[in-house]
Amino acid sequence: MTWSRREGDWRDEDPELFAIIDRELERQNTTIQLIASENFTSPAVLAATGSVLTNKYSEGYPGKRYYGGNYVIDEVENLARERAKALFGAEHANVQPHAGANANLAVYLGLLEPGDTVLGMRLDQGGHLTHGSPVNASGRLYRFVSYGVTDSDERIDFDQVRDVARRERPKMIVAGATAYPRLIDPEPFRAIADEIGALFVFDAAHIAGLVAGGVHPDPVPHSDVVTLTTHKTLRGPRGGCILSTAGCAAAIDKAVFPGLQGGPLEHVIAAKAVAFREAGQPSFRDYAAQIVSNARALAGALAEEGFRLVSGGTDNHLILIDLRTFDAELTGKQAQETLDRAGITLNKNQIPNDPRSPFVCSGLRLGTAAVTTAGMKEQDMGAIASLMGRALGAGGGGGGGDARDLTAIREEVAVLCSKFTPYSDL
Ligand SMILES: *Cc1c(COP(=O)(O)O)cnc(C)c1O
Repeated sequence: MTWSRREGDWRDEDPELFAIIDRELERQNTTIQLIASENFTSPAVLAATGSVLTNKYSEGYPGKRYYGGNYVIDEVENLARERAKALFGAEHANVQPHAGANANLAVYLGLLEPGDTVLGMRLDQGGHLTHGSPVNASGRLYRFVSYGVTDSDERIDFDQVRDVARRERPKMIVAGATAYPRLIDPEPFRAIADEIGALFVFDAAHIAGLVAGGVHPDPVPHSDVVTLTTHKTLRGPRGGCILSTAGCAAAIDKAVFPGLQGGPLEHVIAAKAVAFREAGQPSFRDYAAQIVSNARALAGALAEEGFRLVSGGTDNHLILIDLRTFDAELTGKQAQETLDRAGITLNKNQIPNDPRSPFVCSGLRLGTAAVTTAGMKEQDMGAIASLMGRALGAGGGGGGGDARDLTAIREEVAVLCSKFTPYSDL
């Protein structure tokens, strides 16, 4: 038997599944994507992800595989590694982590012993699940202590970082966040880590594309290890990557395989190579600058709509709204659901010192990476803010949203999206 490439074959074979994929394509093309961790990858990334590389088992690393027939695969992985190192100026790259969470766990596994103390950002102030959540392996295997943001300006409290570091003597300090709208300066973290003799790990999952595009300081020269995801601002396939000094390389590689994972996803690694090349192009610098410029425009327009922004604005691709001043009764959960009905996709999020539970939340998190890929500019951010203000104001307290108004808003959303269709000919 040979597999045919004829267009449409697979659709006829499995119309049930491919109809679902078509509906997701339609959703991505016709609603506004403001999830801060999402983006639209290029057709080249999609093609590599959907390639025959998915068939090959290649446990191990280039030149040291457990199975035969890896001479082509080795070229794929070497290309991805070399491109990652060149893009970020790193001494070593491991491109095998299946996701950002795996990258972080591999770093802990490689550089810590169970029970070791780690200092990371508080989860309810912007840190990630893998920075010590009690329900995550990180929090179950290691002793995490934390720092947060100041009450006054809602930026990282470096006095607290230093105090906790001196008191708890962590073996590792982790910087990086999943819901923090400001630049994270690696230098003060490095200084504190040096003072107490700790390793410094920077989790650049969200901002990797901003670093590659030159609009966020590069943490690599200041860090022992930098972890990242390839699918957020970097705009590649869903996956993770670890950059490190040459000194940490062997421990990291051993922790990823055989420590944590089995066979690497070489089709995804190929797509990572595509993304690293794309992120090295001059046009990607323009893209990164436009992401930040769009985020500033959206932040300004949201403030005009009456929304309070955590820290007063943004330096990166991300905005955190505190809904309480807009409508004291409106929860993040209700707002997310109402906006979903209006065709505006984002997520509820905790804000610093949130009085509500993580399932309800008082905030919303938005990002501009995807809409910027779709071609939107500053003036379109104004339109989005106004649509959001109308949708969430429509229902009065509780944000239920008048159904008629939401239908009208959804139509306006569709008109806006029709000018910025990420995948018009897929
Ligand atoms: C998204 C994210 C991760 C995890 O990435 P996944 O690919 O979802 O596993 C890790 N750290 C931070 C800071 C993140 O934002």
